[in-house]
Amino acid sequence: MIELKNVSKTFETANGKVEAVKNVELTVDAGEIFGIVGFSGAGKSTLVRMLNGLETPTSGEVIINDVRIDTLKGKDLREQRKKIGIIFQHFNLLWSRTVLENIEFPLELIGMPKAERETKAKHLAELVGLGERINAYPSQLSGGQKQRVGIARALANDPDILISDEATSALDPQTTDEVLDLLDEINQKLDLTIVIITHEMHVIRRLADRVAVMENGRVIEQGPVSEVFTHP
Ligand code: ADP
Ligand code: ADP
Repeated sequence: MIELKNVSKTFETANGKVEAVKNVELTVDAGEIFGIVGFSGAGKSTLVRMLNGLETPTSGEVIINDVRIDTLKGKDLREQRKKIGIIFQHFNLLWSRTVLENIEFPLELIGMPKAERETKAKHLAELVGLGERINAYPSQLSGGQKQRVGIARALANDPDILISDEATSALDPQTTDEVLDLLDEINQKLDLTIVIITHEMHVIRRLADRVAVMENGRVIEQGPVSEVFTHP
């Protein structure tokens, strides 16, 4: 469960202060798919970066599974980060490594022995439907397949939460639907909480249980998708 309590983030820049996030109150329940939607510059990325400690709020509290994470440092913060997997718009894959090696990478970082991490990575490759492509390189994959690698890699450390940061924004509509179906399946299979950041309303409509709409750093509306997005 994620709780944001009156969270604000102000950046000091050469041109003065930028209030990227203002007084955000938000709760994401364990196991739900929660959407955060808003135009470019609304504050979505800053909000997400505060969830894994890449940014510290100027004020307010960020609480994940009853642990206040905005005050964590060093080893405690690194441990906390393992509980959050992130997938990105541009996949962020290692181009000189195979599918299997990309999925293994986070496990290599924590020092898991080769045989053990290979077994785990193979299992994850199968989970995302890439069991037959483990020896391929990213350049040999379609956009949808690349994102499947990204999803498998994000799941390597058995996170409680998966954050999708515009993960389908570079994909065509059909591939987007396939990736969203996979996220839906994983949400149910692994009982994973998923936070979807996007500027695309249809992504939220298709997948999310609840949504927060951000504008100029503020959450201007939040609630069940069916209530927030009234159909014409
Ligand atoms: P979104 O992800 O919704 O596009 P961002 O969180 O990236 O929005 O940005 C919100 C606002 O904060 C924008 O005005 C952006 O320029 C500003 N901003 C984000 N990060 C920084 C930073 N590190 N320094 C200064 N301003 C920033
Ligand atoms: P996104 O909207 O996906 O965050 P951006 O290109 O806006 O992509 O931001 C990329 C990175 O630059 C992020 O880490 C963001 O925090 C930072 N950033 C965004 N706007 C500014 C800014 N005005 N000054 C400094 N850093 C910024």
